[in-house]
Amino acid sequence: MLRTLSGTALITVLLATSAIAQNAKAIVATASKTIGADGLNSITYSGSATTGNFGQSQAIAGPLAVTTITNYTRAIDLAQPASRASGATMPPATPGGPPPQPGTFNQNITPANAAWTQQLEIWVTPWAFLRGATANNATVRSERADGKTYKVVSWMPPQKAPSGQPYRVNGYINDQNLIERVETWVEHPVLGDLHVDTFYSNYQDFGGVKVPTKIIQKRADLTTFEATIASAKPNPSNLTELLTPPPPAAGAPSGAPAGPPPSQPAQSEKLADGVYRITGNYSAVAVEFSDHIVVLEGGQSEARGLAVIAETRRVIPNKPIRYLVNTHAHFDHASGLAPFAAEGITIITHENNKAYLEKALSGPRTLVGDTLAQSNRKPKIESAGDKRILQDGTRSIELHHVENLAHSNGMLVAYLPKEKILFTADFNVPAPGQPVSPAIGTLVQNIDRLKLDFDKHVLVHPPNPDRVMTKADLLELAKGTK
Ligand SMILES: [Zn+2]
Repeated sequence: MLRTLSGTALITVLLATSAIAQNAKAIVATASKTIGADGLNSITYSGSATTGNFGQSQAIAGPLAVTTITNYTRAIDLAQPASRASGATMPPATPGGPPPQPGTFNQNITPANAAWTQQLEIWVTPWAFLRGATANNATVRSERADGKTYKVVSWMPPQKAPSGQPYRVNGYINDQNLIERVETWVEHPVLGDLHVDTFYSNYQDFGGVKVPTKIIQKRADLTTFEATIASAKPNPSNLTELLTPPPPAAGAPSGAPAGPPPSQPAQSEKLADGVYRITGNYSAVAVEFSDHIVVLEGGQSEARGLAVIAETRRVIPNKPIRYLVNTHAHFDHASGLAPFAAEGITIITHENNKAYLEKALSGPRTLVGDTLAQSNRKPKIESAGDKRILQDGTRSIELHHVENLAHSNGMLVAYLPKEKILFTADFNVPAPGQPVSPAIGTLVQNIDRLKLDFDKHVLVHPPNPDRVMTKADLLELAKGTK
């Protein structure tokens, strides 16, 4: 009886699935015809655009500072697929900072990098989305949103997330058979399943192909890209030229990552009894208390976070790590938090970052497949206000909020009064010939306000050559900001 029932149920499901697939095919064909995607192998479009500093904003939950891109031009080869976008950039001015320097925008997506983080930028465009739907057995459902009914076409690309789970792409097709929105999710070391939502409107006809002249992309609900398209050309004859980046300018950085690769085992040096600097481009400090350990800074990736944990346990064996202090929530400083949360270690961050990091690290984590996802643990996050002291009978660590800092409104520095050590992030020693950041002046104002007396200044991003700085070094550097 049970067998018969499940058999019948299975047939019903198969029939329904097949009907949905047929329906999706027809809907995709109509949408494709409507926007002129049949016979479209490539497209180029130009206009003006902006990007937002996602994960680097002064307040981590936004608003994002906007960089403008003039002469924004993008070419997409739907056959390879490949894409190149370029333009001239002007970053936002920082209050009290030097005038922003113009630069160039370069976004090159080639088949050589099949990662969905890269490839999604092609597949969420209306033309590629419809191609992907045809190639990947799309399904369709109806959904009402904002008083409108959409046909939501959904498919899964061939590549799989690090967790082994498939990715999904949903396109929202309106009653005029135009794609208004394409959403997908991608793995992110802080946010877990990061929602990438791209909106298309004001379609206009360019050479028989409909092109959205307004494009907005949001990541985790923050606007990270916006473009106004003024011109477009289907199947451009100079496609190869449009897809070829210019040769790197003489003296340009080679793109090699600074510091050791994240997989390299961490090394450390003793700063004082029970205090160790774990060296690397995102250095950390392990501090021994009578019955536990406090680690300052978790690094820029899961691999680095795991390496910091391993090195901490090597130099201070047989004591649990109780706290991880996060200097600030910028993604390059928060991407190593997940492995600490996975171990049940309490993360301390400034109160301006607490709600954001709590939500980010507790959200769905089906794609990233990291230690936190595997642990099923809810992260334990505590906050520090203007000042918080971690202490026992042996020593203390003072955490202070850095006031009036343009870089981040949730920045903590750690001060060990007995050992006269100050630990800071993102108050960097400039490379030779580069200007001193006004943030150095802000740090000195805060040190004066708090009357912090220290000999050793440990930087998360150490200077080249790698060394521990002094208070005198910092004061000398600060002269460059006056
Ligand atoms: Zn930062």
